[in-house]
Amino acid sequence: MFSFSVELRKDPITRSWVMTGDDPAETEPRPESACRFCDGSATSLQVVAKSPNSPGTPWSARSVVHPKPLYRIEGEPDRRGDGIYDRMHSVGAHEVLVENPRHDRHLWNATDDEIAHFLRLAAERILDLKRDPRIKYVSLFKDYGKNAGQEFSHPTSQITATMFVPRRVLYELRAAREYFVGKERCVFCDIIQQEERQAQRVIEARGDYLALCPYAPRVPYETWILPRYHDSSFERAGLNRPGLRMNLAALLRRTLQRVRSVTEDFHLVLHTSPSSIHPSKNLGYWKTIDDDYHWHIEILPVVQSKARSYTFKEVYYSPVSSETAVKQLREAKIDG
Ligand SMILES: [Zn+2]
Ligand SMILES: [Zn+2]
Ligand SMILES: [Zn+2]
Repeated sequence: MFSFSVELRKDPITRSWVMTGDDPAETEPRPESACRFCDGSATSLQVVAKSPNSPGTPWSARSVVHPKPLYRIEGEPDRRGDGIYDRMHSVGAHEVLVENPRHDRHLWNATDDEIAHFLRLAAERILDLKRDPRIKYVSLFKDYGKNAGQEFSHPTSQITATMFVPRRVLYELRAAREYFVGKERCVFCDIIQQEERQAQRVIEARGDYLALCPYAPRVPYETWILPRYHDSSFERAGLNRPGLRMNLAALLRRTLQRVRSVTEDFHLVLHTSPSSIHPSKNLGYWKTIDDDYHWHIEILPVVQSKARSYTFKEVYYSPVSSETAVKQLREAKIDG
């Protein structure tokens, strides 16, 4: 099996972990021949889980171990100091979520039922990985398009389970907790309330879910999908209520169609609450997590012609305002 030495190092100033190592594969890119994720592929895959089949297919969505995992479930993290620095082995999990058995069915052109199966599997995988007491956070993300670093041609998302909370989520958790301490309200609920009232940046509401362009976007056409009612954990809601899952599937599909009217390339990431199995004493953000955090999906389109304006990210600069973006996304032609 492929292996190269990567390790996690902590930046002592921002306290965020970075993964670093010299990847020998970078120098010898290998073209992907037959799709390894299509049914009947000769490549053997380590299947972790699959969701029940839809008519005419062996499964509707399934999770496999990433062929070149950045995190491995075996071994000990061996967290240690190095003078003032911290380092550890990249222990965790790295899975590919095959969204659909069909090579041409993406989250924007599959049926809502198929997308709902994928969402359910994602929720199940997150819940299952969170049961491992070593795991602090489970990330679900998707990179689509060559300017977004897409890895496989088959419709896939990826999951990483890590022994630390990724930087962006950590910032959100800290900020949401501070807001809650001051106001005893969830900052995301307050955002939703104001956005629904002002109706300036809302793209669409569907049942209990809302798609909007955030007030301060990092990139043009940045879009969030959130539950309209308070909920800290996607995996809980994602599992328990099939009706909600169908609404979320439809909103996700329609929103991606809108985004694709602007650009094909995008990053998508789910932000949900961290594992609460081992509340940390020095990091207090777990105490009120169910009240102060609110899960959401962030979609960050990659608009190539505008790339120059926001490649230097010390300060985000988005040359399209949210108010303009939302008009264009609302008017985008979508089917169904
Ligand atoms: Zn395929
Ligand atoms: Zn909330
Ligand atoms: Zn977020």
